[in-house]
Formats: sequence, structure tokens, C-alpha cells
Amino acid sequence: MGSDSQHIVMLPFMAHGHLIPFLALARQIRRRTGFTVTIANTPFNIQHLRSTMNSSSSSSPPEPSICLVELPFSVSDHGLPANTENSENLPLDLIGKFFAASTSLRNPVHGLLSDIVAKEGKPPLCVISDIFFGWADEVAKSVGTVNLSFSTGGAYGSLAYISLWLNLPQRKADSDEFHVPGFPDSYRFHITQLHQFLRNADGTDSWSKFMQTQISLSLQSFGFLCNTTEEIEPLALELLRKYIKLPVWSIGPLLPPDVLNGSSLSGSGSGSSITIQRAGKKPGISTERCLEWLDLQSPVSVLYISFGSQNCITLSQMIEMAIGLEESTKPFIWVIRPPVGFDRKAEFKAQWLPEGFEERINSRKQGLLVRNWAPQLEILSHKSIGAFLSHCGWNSVLESLSQGVPIIGWPLAAEQAYNSKMLVEEMGVSVELTRGLQSTITWKEVKEVVDLVMEPKGKGDHMRKKALEISMLMRKSVKEEGEEIGSSVKALDDLVNILLSKRQENKPIA
Ligand code: UDP
Repeated sequence: MGSDSQHIVMLPFMAHGHLIPFLALARQIRRRTGFTVTIANTPFNIQHLRSTMNSSSSSSPPEPSICLVELPFSVSDHGLPANTENSENLPLDLIGKFFAASTSLRNPVHGLLSDIVAKEGKPPLCVISDIFFGWADEVAKSVGTVNLSFSTGGAYGSLAYISLWLNLPQRKADSDEFHVPGFPDSYRFHITQLHQFLRNADGTDSWSKFMQTQISLSLQSFGFLCNTTEEIEPLALELLRKYIKLPVWSIGPLLPPDVLNGSSLSGSGSGSSITIQRAGKKPGISTERCLEWLDLQSPVSVLYISFGSQNCITLSQMIEMAIGLEESTKPFIWVIRPPVGFDRKAEFKAQWLPEGFEERINSRKQGLLVRNWAPQLEILSHKSIGAFLSHCGWNSVLESLSQGVPIIGWPLAAEQAYNSKMLVEEMGVSVELTRGLQSTITWKEVKEVVDLVMEPKGKGDHMRKKALEISMLMRKSVKEEGEEIGSSVKALDDLVNILLSKRQENKPIA
């Protein structure tokens, strides 16, 4: 593809799970096109991206340069603590305010795009903005370019999420099961799959107004990008295209370099640990310590447990989880954080787990508790990992499946319940333990599901086989060279060619 001087500007939402796939997409665009790519965000998040880009591994190719631009961002008018720049660690009641505050990026983004036009004599080829930044479409048009809305989720989860917000209210009084517009009539969703934000939204509250406005504006964009592949979500992509009536380019799975090019998979994990460009260093355990611990375990024997970058479970759920894990006697690595309702930045207290729990699991070498943050991809790619108990955040799902690791689902927020539904019903790579924070999970249920998935020659083996098949499809879809270029690589090439030809024809593309 030609590398004449084009410029693409990217605007991720300010959350770890959005910044990381945006960065992966920026890298992919740079590699395929050589265009200038700018990611703009608030200073804290730009710093986070910079540290991610700098933490290169010896096996990675040199990082093609990506421009990082800091946008001024003040939350003082929105009732948020000063310097809040990322949704991580924010209590649930402040998340809505944070979303509302994000619209104040509109003017700085307009300034940035205008500066580019003035400096380069033409507008950027396109803007790629987060689905939560619907306002970016009008800003892009105002400087003479187009906006592409990027959902960092998969097709199934994005469709359910979009449709549920656009079809409020979701309080279903008559039945616990209901249909979601955009899905076939036979697909039933359950009331417990609605996150409390959606369950309480009626179209007039501030959450509803924000979501409906931003999603509707996003759907006026030139097109929609989805972090998935044609091979793994063919039906969901078809349904999504039909429902949102926009061209959809599936350009995923967007994962850090090396993840899908590592050594060939054998069973669960990649056989040997791969070196991965870390997703921004955060305070937590060292990678070496985790890998050393995993080296001592048998292949496909360890359960990895994590609820992503934002979520935690309640105190009583933590206690039941701990007892269930201990009773199962299966080895595990568990990323622990203060339970819901406690200061998320506080040091983890022993009283949040059963008395003597950590000492017992340490002395039996049954478990490793990781405080706050774990090197997830390195863990998932280790041959000892047998399954992932996950909140089903889309990045976690892709990371797990990319390594052929099956999932035990405990969806908590956002579109996670729909991801989980698809993993169970469409892909057969997961069983669901429970849903949400309201769940009164018991230790027996935890033990039962852990045994089901981790016992050799059980259901877990079947799920693992399916997960392995999906990892192969993912690899195929991102193949950049040879006769058969992967579908996701092709989709990105197609998109760039369409944008270039429109520009060459000198047609107004907005
Ligand atoms: N992550 C990590 N270590 C942790 C927790 C999370 O590296 O201890 C990374 C994980 O690998 C994934 C991202 O954070 O890339 C979480 O994204 P996901 O979409 O799964 O969930 P979210 O955090 O958006 O809810």
C-alpha cells in the first residue's frame, strides 16, 4: 500500500481496556501503510501509552513511531475528584460523571484537527474515535474528513450493548427473559444479563441520555470498526451490519505484537511462554515471579482468575470464591483487589479472605495471590494454564482464546454478559459460573465449576479443544504475508483503499 503522507487521528475512551486495542490498531495501521498516526488523549493516559510503547521486548520488531498528543482535560465542573483522567479505580457512582465529562474533549479535539489542517494543508484521512465519543463525527466533518466509530468490543457484545441502550427502557416486568432487537427471535436474553445501569435506565436519566446520544451520533459515522474477525463471529457480524446499517470492518483481534505470532500452540497456552510487549507497567507482581511459580505446576493444571482492569467482586463473594478454590485443591493464580465498597487504591487486607487462607495455599503451593495487577498475557500463554475465570471483558476474552485457554465466565458490567452468552452458546469455549455483583454465589458452586473445567478428561478438555480451534482462526485472520492474507488484514487494507480513492477523486467524503 502506498505511503504518501496521510494522517490518521485516533481518539480512545479513557480506560485501559479501550486504550490498549486502540494502540494495537495504531501499530497495525502504521505497519500496513506507513501513514502518520496520532493518538490523542488526556495527559495521564498518554503517559500510560508512552510507557507501554517503551516497554519493548527483545523479540519484537522496532516500534514504528506513533504520535501521542496530550489534550487538556478538566473534571472540576463535573463533581469528580481533581485529576481524574481514567475510569480505573472510580467507584460506580462516579463513572457516569466521568463519561459525561469526556464530552469536554470535543473542543481540544477540534483544535487538534484544525492544527493538522493548517500545518499539512489537508485534513487527516480519517478520525477513528471510540464509540463513546459520538461527538467526534461532527468534529471530523467540520474539518473536512470522516469519522469511523470503533467499538473495542466484539460484534455480538457490541450489537447487544448498542441495541439495549437504543431500545430503552429495559425493565422487563412481565418476564425474566426478553428479546433484544437485532438478534433472531429465538435468542432470549435474561434480566440478570442487564447491568444495573441498563436495568435502571429509562431514557430520561443522565446515563440514558449520554449513552443514547453518543451511540446514535456514532452510528452516523462513515463506518464502524469492530475488534473481531469474520471467522470467529460470522453471524454476529452479519446481524450487526444489518442492525446498525453501516459498513463494518472487522479488524481484530487487536493484540500486542507477538501474541498471535508466538510458537505453535500445544494444548492450552502456547507451549512455552512468549515474550510480550507489556500493556503498560502497573504496580503489581513481577512477571518472573509468576512464571517461576507456573513453571513448577503441571501442564494445563492452573486456573487464572482476574476481573480485568476496572472490576472487583464483593467481600462475601471473595470469601466464597476463596473457600471454593481451596476446597477444589486445584492450583490457581488469583488477581486480588479490595472488594466493592472499599477504597480501590488501599492495600489489600488479610481479613478480606478466610482466616489463614494465604498462608495455607502458599504452604501447599496451591495458589498464588497477586495484588492489584498481573502480567495477564504472559500468564495466559504459559503451558501450565488450564482455564481463565474471567469477567469476560473483550480484551481478556481475545487474550485467552488467542492462547487456546477456555473460560469460566463471571460477567460483571458493560457488554460482558453478552460476551459470556456468546462464548457459552455460540463458541462452546466457556461455562458461566454466575453473573453480576448481586449474585449470592456459594463456595460449593465455585468448587463445582472449577472441578468441571479443570478435571482431566472432562468438559474442560472439550472447551480447550474449541478454544484452540478459535486461536487458529485468529492466527489465520491476522496473517500479513503469503498467498492468503488474513481477513482482518484485508479488511484494514480495504478500508484504507476506500478512504484513499475517495480522497483522490477529490470528492467531499464527509
Ligand atoms: N490486565 C492485565 N492485568 C491485570 C488485569 C488486567 O494485564 O491484572 C489487562 C488484560 O490483559 C486486558 C485488560 O487489562 O488487556 C482488561 O481488558 P478487558 O477488556 O478484559 O476488561 P476491562 O478492564 O476493560 O473491564
